[in-house]
Amino acid sequence: MQNRMFDVVIVGGGISGCALTYVLSKYSEVKSIAVLEKYGSLAPLNSNARANSQTLHCGDIETNYKLEKAKLVKRQAQMLVNYADLVEKNDFIFKFPKMILAVGEEECERLEARHAEFAEAFPYMELWDAEKIAEIEPAVALIDGKPRPEKIIACGCTDEYSAVNFGNLSKSFINSARNTNTEINVSLSSEVEKIAQFDDHYELTTSQGTFMAKFVVVSAGAHSLLLANQLGHGLDMSILPMAGSFYYVPKILNGKVYTMQNDKLPFAALHGDPDLVEMSKTRLGPTALVLPKLERYTGGTYLDFWRSLKLDGKVIRVFWDLMKDSTIRNYIFRNFAFEIPIIRQKLFAKDAQKIIPGLKAEDLEYADGIGGLRPQVINKTDMVLQLGEASIVPEGENLIFNMTPSPGATTCLGNAYRDAKIVTERLGIKMDRALITKELLGGQDFED
Ligand SMILES: Cc1cc2nc3c(=O)[nH]c(=O)nc-3n(C[C@H](O)[C@H](O)[C@H](O)COP(=O)(O)OP(=O)(O)OC[C@H]3O[C@@H](n4cnc5c(N)ncnc54)[C@H](O)[C@@H]3O)c2cc1C
Repeated sequence: MQNRMFDVVIVGGGISGCALTYVLSKYSEVKSIAVLEKYGSLAPLNSNARANSQTLHCGDIETNYKLEKAKLVKRQAQMLVNYADLVEKNDFIFKFPKMILAVGEEECERLEARHAEFAEAFPYMELWDAEKIAEIEPAVALIDGKPRPEKIIACGCTDEYSAVNFGNLSKSFINSARNTNTEINVSLSSEVEKIAQFDDHYELTTSQGTFMAKFVVVSAGAHSLLLANQLGHGLDMSILPMAGSFYYVPKILNGKVYTMQNDKLPFAALHGDPDLVEMSKTRLGPTALVLPKLERYTGGTYLDFWRSLKLDGKVIRVFWDLMKDSTIRNYIFRNFAFEIPIIRQKLFAKDAQKIIPGLKAEDLEYADGIGGLRPQVINKTDMVLQLGEASIVPEGENLIFNMTPSPGATTCLGNAYRDAKIVTERLGIKMDRALITKELLGGQDFED
């Protein structure tokens, strides 16, 4: 049983916790780190390759990002590519063709305008006509060998990193951390039940004993907020768990095909992707479904959902504002219907035909056990559904709590760098920012 002091204890062995372990061990003077993971392996939930879309979000094919956000995400994504160059074994990052597909006159016009606006930041993205699309993704441009009827264009590239097995990457971060002088203690099957605050340290109670820490970072996905609430932090936030499901078809796409975003909708539009763990199949999705639990496919956590939702007038007002918009309301009901056996294949096929026009409902198989859960934060002060990541960093305390929905796996090193700066500053120890800038940021720090 543990009962000892670590410089830093990280709660959660997903990609966020593992990336921070790596950054602190390699680029700071932190001497000891404990990683506490509830389940029996690293990256068992949302960071697992079966739970997410495996996309390295670079901002080039995500039409739900504005230019500024796209540029930032691109830099964070590049950190993963640079990390891959530093390690001996790379079983996590891959190149596939990728494109944004526009269908119909209106979308084609919008895509052309976007391409012009983004060209300077993403010079490798090309505009493709139907003929070129047919060369790269025949199933997108043709039905039975003949051109599909609607006008299509795409904006894409063929030689960039586009897919990541974030589960393998999590393990790689821990292996790399173990090759440094920092002591790394990974404790699996160690659910943190309670964090207690003392004058100069924190005590974390788990089934494997008590862990003491000078600094605690909680990257426990949807559960981060509950742990923060225990200590009186983040009481003005709620968690809205948005599950994402997928459908399989036998392999029909060669790479990633993203569709144009409807700006009114809060979640990324449907896409088709190769599946790094089921290479004989193409994955379509994800859907967006509100679920009253904090973990997908593990049983339980219903009570945790209600405790972290903290239903009150303000939360109801956020739901009401969402539901009174007919586009969002229809989207929510439609995504719910994508889960109902018998009708779901037919309904989903209609949407998926935008990507693969020759697709038939009977080609689709609901991907059971695939797809995780995005912990979206409701900000009760502003009464809005927050779409990006959220962190709670209490003033004057050695605590950070992170909630990281998409694209939190892509931005893991960027987030880890952000947190490592706070950890080292508050602990009064050095961090080699010059080295991290050189190795992971291509020579230019975020703040330069
Ligand atoms: C459908 C879907 C598609 C997505 N697609 C992409 C994508 O293509 N690209 C991308 O970049 N991002 C994507 N994301 C987002 C991405 O998966 C997450 O942002 C990322 O995995 C979050 O990592 P994390 O480590 O913060 O959380 P998690 O992976 O959820 O890890 C949290 C860990 O904390 C552990 N834990 C919880 N409570 C405790 C406790 N009390 N004690 C100890 N341990 C605890 C859990 O067991 C878990 O292992 C997608 C997400 C979904 C749901």
